[in-house]
Amino acid sequence: MDPGTSKSPDVHLNLNVRGLGVSATLGINERSNTLLSQGHQVYRLGLGQSPFPVPQVVESALQQNAWQKDYLPVMGLSELRQAVSDYLGRNEGVAFTPDNVMVGPGSKELMFILQLVYYGDLVIPTPSWVSYAPQARIVGRQVHWLPTRADNGWKLTPEALDQLCRPDPSRPRLVILNYPANPHGYSYSGDELQALAEVARRYRLILLSDEIYGELDFQATHQSIARYYPEGTIVSTGLSKWCGAGGWRLGVFAFPSGLHWLRDAMATVASETYTSVAAPIQHAAVRAFRGGVELEQYLVCSRRILHALADFQVRTLRDADIELDMPEGAFYLFPDLQPYRNALQNRGIHTNVQLCEALLEETGLATLPGQAFGRPEQELTLRMAYVDFDGARALAAADNYMPETPLDETFLRTYCLNCVTATERMVDWLRAL
Ligand code: GLU
Repeated sequence: MDPGTSKSPDVHLNLNVRGLGVSATLGINERSNTLLSQGHQVYRLGLGQSPFPVPQVVESALQQNAWQKDYLPVMGLSELRQAVSDYLGRNEGVAFTPDNVMVGPGSKELMFILQLVYYGDLVIPTPSWVSYAPQARIVGRQVHWLPTRADNGWKLTPEALDQLCRPDPSRPRLVILNYPANPHGYSYSGDELQALAEVARRYRLILLSDEIYGELDFQATHQSIARYYPEGTIVSTGLSKWCGAGGWRLGVFAFPSGLHWLRDAMATVASETYTSVAAPIQHAAVRAFRGGVELEQYLVCSRRILHALADFQVRTLRDADIELDMPEGAFYLFPDLQPYRNALQNRGIHTNVQLCEALLEETGLATLPGQAFGRPEQELTLRMAYVDFDGARALAAADNYMPETPLDETFLRTYCLNCVTATERMVDWLRAL
């Protein structure tokens, strides 16, 4: 008999965890790595990891701080909290004092702790990032998926939010809004944010605004909803996406002053679990959040490359009769392959999970099925993370390539070939069904 068990082992697992596999994003990454190590051709559109290197000035700051070895305050290094407060003021025009900022080992962990300490339902639009709902399930919260429409950019509408809240207006709820969004890259205009903020205020909702892709808005026009609902919005961001540092695991939350009770409860859990984020990483993050010319140039080039790539892929998919609006930021596309339903059905493919499996086996494309983002199984949606290219090489080239004009197809075929080929292979495969 194994230790810790008297019968079959999983009888002794917490019910909230039983049956949950590894997160879809990490699962597809491990699977892609295994296939690659076995010599298969894989187009890695599964995990949403930034293709770009950490900016040189930030990497140097990490090297210079490698000697930092002390435990840091649970809430984060004070210089870093100051730098984040300045960053949010400068970029978003929202006032969060350093005291309102909490640093964690990735915004994902902070989201989990928030759900643990806040006793309210989780409200998310479908589709949403793969981990919000499993986190709620693990801590035993109810999840409400709000309906959206593809022809409205899968956006959460004030009407849908109001409809959910009206019958039970004082129920505690945590709403997560993420834009530019994972898994589709669409964003909200100032008017749309304002309309959502009004509903949030009416029902005293806690809004967690996941702005991790904010800096990757192609037009650099991202706005925080904290401008419109400052008293109830927690802003979440970090270094993973705009600073190419997913593996550094550094995320931040900025709280309104009226929600310090939540911040303090989260700090209690943090102090009893991870203690504080790695010291050298926090010191280097100060440099990242201080910004400056090098970082601005890095972001301009990152946006330019991602924008051109999105544009090429959307045009290629549209040429194959797949309706898809141009994303506004991030590095994801979320097409619906409905026009090929009959042909796919003839091949025994009825669900988005089967679709992604067949794509991986027959074309080498690693993608994630719509179901992982809360879409119905029968819908033929999937997420393509267009990140399979050497970001350092592309950035260096984009710096001098045809300034003032969008990057052309020659650039994309030279520096982002796998993403270009992957889209073309998918379209060829669909046409040949
Ligand atoms: N956010 C990224 C994605 O959706 C990966 C990070 C993660 O899921 O932990 O693919």
